This record gives sequence, C-alpha cells and structure tokens, in this order.
Amino acid sequence: MAPDGQTLAPNVYDSEPIPDAARAEIDRLLQSGDLFRYTAPSDAPVALLEAEFAELLGARYALAVSSCSAALFLSLKALDLPKGAKVLIPAFTFAAVPSSVVHADCEPMLVEVGENYRVDMADFAAKLPGADAVMISHMRGHTSDMDAIMALCDAAGVPVIEDAAHSLGTVWGGRNIGTIGRVGCFSFQSYKLVNAGEGGIMITDDPEIAARAIIMSGAYETNWKKHPGLTNSCAHWQNKLPLYNLRMQNLSAAVIRPQLPLVAERVAKGRAGHDRVAGSLNLSAHLAVPEALGPEERAPDSIQFNLVGGWTDRQATEFQAAAKARGVSVQVFGLSEGNARAFWNWQFLGEVPDLPQTRAMLMRACDVRLPVRLTEAELDYIAAAIVDAAQEVRG
Ligand SMILES: *Cc1c(COP(=O)(O)O)cnc(C)c1O
Repeated sequence: MAPDGQTLAPNVYDSEPIPDAARAEIDRLLQSGDLFRYTAPSDAPVALLEAEFAELLGARYALAVSSCSAALFLSLKALDLPKGAKVLIPAFTFAAVPSSVVHADCEPMLVEVGENYRVDMADFAAKLPGADAVMISHMRGHTSDMDAIMALCDAAGVPVIEDAAHSLGTVWGGRNIGTIGRVGCFSFQSYKLVNAGEGGIMITDDPEIAARAIIMSGAYETNWKKHPGLTNSCAHWQNKLPLYNLRMQNLSAAVIRPQLPLVAERVAKGRAGHDRVAGSLNLSAHLAVPEALGPEERAPDSIQFNLVGGWTDRQATEFQAAAKARGVSVQVFGLSEGNARAFWNWQFLGEVPDLPQTRAMLMRACDVRLPVRLTEAELDYIAAAIVDAAQEVRG
C-alpha cells in the first residue's frame, strides 16, 4: 500500500515465508548433520513427508525425489517401456515434460490442445493407437477430460501418468488430481503451491511401480527396507535396475512438511482470488477466461485468459506493454521470447510437427501470476490494469 492508502501494483514474484515450525526441525538437522534420508533407522523427515503426502492425497505409496522432472522420468522408467516407446503428451505443457520423455529414451507425440487449454479429445483419440504411454500435463491446474482420457486409455491398455506439478489441490469429479492415472507427479519448486525451492514427489497405488521407482531413485543395497509395505516387490528388483540417485534430502522435507496442513487454505484462497479476477476480466469484450470442465474444482495460483475478438499479433504485443506500464506483467505464451511452454521452442526434439490449433491458442493466451497471499485490493488492481490495457489497445 502507498502512504495515501492507494494500492500499488503488487509484487507477484515474492514467495511467502516458510512456517516457523520448519526452523526448529532444520536446527535439529543441522546440529546432528543428519541430512541423508536413509541414515536414520526410521522416521527420517523424507520418510515422514512421504507418509503424510500419501495420506493427504489418498494414495498407497509416495516417493519424494529431487524435482517433478525426476518424478516424471522415474515414472516412465518404472513403467518398463521399451526403448523408443511413444508417449502422448499435450502440446501445451512446460518443456520439462517432453524433456523427461527424451531422458527416459522414449519419443514424445504431441497432441493438440484447444483454446480452453485442455487436450483436444478428437486428436487424442486419433493418436492414441500409436502410443505406449500417456503423460497428461494439467497445465496451470487446467484439467482435461480425465473421464474420457481414462476410458480410452483403459480400453487400449495404455498407462497414464499425471503431471500434476502445478495442480496440487485440484479435484476432478471428487478425486484428487494425481490419483486418477497410474502415477501422479508433483513439484515443490518455488512457483508451486508448496515451496521448497526444489523438490518433487510421485504417488501411486501400484506396488511394482513404487518399488521400481524407489530403487531407481537411489535406494541402493537394502535402503528400500525403509519404505514400508514394499518388501517383496523391492527384494525382487534389487540389483536389477540402474540407480539414478534422484533422492530428496532431509532439509527439503523439513521445509515442505509444515506447509502440507496449509494446502487446503491456500487452495481456497487461490480459487477465490482467481474467480474474483476472472469475474472482472470476463466483463471486458476483449478478454475471456475459459470455463473449467464440469467435474473440475480448481486450485489456481495464476490466471490464464484469451484475447478474443480478432486481435493482431501487434496488438497483443502492445497489450503486454500497456499492462507492464501499469505494473502488471502479462505473458502471451506464444509472444514472449523463448517461452518454455511454446512447443516450437522445444528444438531439442528435432523436427517439431506443427499443431495449428495449439499454436493459435498460444498466440492469444495470456498468463498472469496471482499468488494466494494477494489481498482483494491487490487482485482488483491487477484486474483493472489488465482490462484498461486491453481497452487502450483495442479502443
Ligand atoms: C513446474 C512444472 C514442471 C517441472 O517441475 P520441476 O519440479 O521444476 O521439475 C513440470 N510440469 C509442469 C506443468 C510444471 O508446472
């Protein structure tokens, strides 16, 4: 707030403080030097985090690792796919997703995404027969039609991995996102709902997948004995799988654990803030926030909206500048230089096929961070700045 009580453009990049409870635990770990997850005979912070996260989401097993990218990679390896296996992914996702597929010696196949940011089910159904696995990215929490996807994949016998990196707390048809497919992967990188700087976790109900992922994450020798309920599966796989060493260390778990009880409140605040801004943007003839599909209950910490009614690329670029002049950073996914969410920038894939529908969406879809700590006045400032900037450019 400015001294006269007027709200200034809020800083949307700063994080929130980590709960105080983390400090005592970090002190204890620093004093003992007990930072490796497998040193303590039991109850290491990483093991406790796994138990708490599995309970929170309603999954049988959880494995904490160094990042969501590591979780996605281990999920693919745990499925035991043949080299060169084809993995369907949405063309609207973060570059980490095709990267994890390449890392696992598989080949990504890109599926078109509609202007509502969700998988185009006609293109998905057409491409599924060529796929060995499916990795669905719930981009910014936007959930594709998981009922239709699971029905098609179950009928075809194709396993589904959910990239729920940025979707913790999202619910689909009463089920937690990340528990619908065979494996669900989440991120604790700083821009996600739970912030540990870096970190990731995967959940599954399948003991074979859990055991294989645990061993490959670096549970060498018999360290897997510290993962409850998996003795038979892990004993079977010991020494038969490579060790990629993608473990989480205790300090990260100490930062994450006290944030888990705050997830429900953050989700509620994020949803209220998002819907408040969406209500204002939808009053503008130039802007539209796509509706979620019926079964989805969102958990947003950002807002995405489309420039509608015949904008040119030049006007879209001017709009970004006009919002910036008001102190609000708006990224049009396809117009911000080198954006890691624009598929044509994934040059590491070699020849990227053109996906005209996804490309058209990315050229008009805008991204604005709305951290859940923002006040209503700050949210209103952001909404007004966006609406005014659109009005200025479109007249
Ligand atoms: C952040 C993110 C990732 C990568 O997570 P890391 O923990 O940074 O590896 C993958 N997919 C999506 C959709 C993301 O938002």
